[in-house]
Amino acid sequence: MSVKSVRPSLFRRMATAVVQWIDSDYCPEGAEKMRNEPDKVDWVRVMPFVVLHLGCFGVLWVGVSAFAAWAAVFLYFIRMFAVTGIYHRYFSHKTYSTSRAGQFFLALWGGTTVQRGGLWWAYHHRHHHQHSDDPEDAHSPHVHGFLWSHIGWITSRRNFPTDYSKVKDLAKFPELVWLNRFDLVVPILYAFAMFGLGAALERWAPGLGTNGWQMLVWGFFISTTALFHGTACINSMAHLMGKRRFKTEDDSRNSFILAIICLGEGWHNNHHRYQSCTRNGFYWWEIDPTYYGLKLLSYTGLIWGLKDVPKSILEEGMHADHHKSIAAAQRSAEREEEISAASPLRTVLPAAAAIAVATATAAHGEMPKKAEGPAIHKDLSGELVKPDIAAKPASPAPGTDNTGKVI
Ligand SMILES: [Zn+2]
Ligand SMILES: [Zn+2]
Repeated sequence: MSVKSVRPSLFRRMATAVVQWIDSDYCPEGAEKMRNEPDKVDWVRVMPFVVLHLGCFGVLWVGVSAFAAWAAVFLYFIRMFAVTGIYHRYFSHKTYSTSRAGQFFLALWGGTTVQRGGLWWAYHHRHHHQHSDDPEDAHSPHVHGFLWSHIGWITSRRNFPTDYSKVKDLAKFPELVWLNRFDLVVPILYAFAMFGLGAALERWAPGLGTNGWQMLVWGFFISTTALFHGTACINSMAHLMGKRRFKTEDDSRNSFILAIICLGEGWHNNHHRYQSCTRNGFYWWEIDPTYYGLKLLSYTGLIWGLKDVPKSILEEGMHADHHKSIAAAQRSAEREEEISAASPLRTVLPAAAAIAVATATAAHGEMPKKAEGPAIHKDLSGELVKPDIAAKPASPAPGTDNTGKVI
């Protein structure tokens, strides 16, 4: 290929990426084609994301005040609630109901998280549930490695467009599509609001020792960057760190630490087992601040119809610790294997018994298939059977609670 033919195409790509900063649906070559490309970082397109991180260094110039630092913490949690309670538990899974005006308000709140539009977020998240830890999963640490699952996947060209056909229930609202398409509007307004707040406090409450630039750095750049990495921990760490209560087909885990950082989302293995309820912490001791916040919001009338965890799932969870039971049986089998190498006749039977226990444990219980779950996901079910899935432990008949549940 000559230099002449490369340059126009490179410039066109860069120009396209710049337009996409403003209009994220702009895709002259076709969104479908872009989604089918191999993973490739688009450095021009991710510049706003790079600037978000670089903006944190502004602290070297603006310094810190107690007010700005606490505001950053408060804004982290209030917007983490928007990620978990709105983008995740409403837009992605519809685990409660609201009015159209309420939905728009929630979308605006979600927009302040600077994690793109609710439809883009929900599309990728539903895709994650359909393909968890399969090669098609955009952010599986087991398939793509930790760094890619944490941050790399959002820099890849193929992950930029929203597949509206996978979020039809949301795409029928033009106001949501508009917010999703022009997904920088709310973040820019939020950044201006931070600057304005700081400037107003400097003038009317100088004792607080803050100003416009300081609030912009702490309230927008630092708080939002921390919010991004806190959220990204669910994509990376929640499939690596913690225990597995339920025997799901993916590697999702339950972690108390992640539940604190992400307001209850750390109970990720619970959530992969049953996605249609409003809670991720299934039991009273599994702290789930997002659920508590949603419960409070339901008293205001803004939202309603929060969904409980079915009794059968709770009972299944009480009697299952597949991570422990399978690992224990495997360890036992390995130990016996070592002894067996020294004296085959003495240990062949116990080793066989241990393997049988592991097999029985793996086969027992109700393993949900990815094709299950809310009806909202069913349009993707035709794509689910992949050779690598077939290689995983057999899936017995799924539970009845999770099937055909219309949300
Ligand atoms: Zn989910
Ligand atoms: Zn997951």
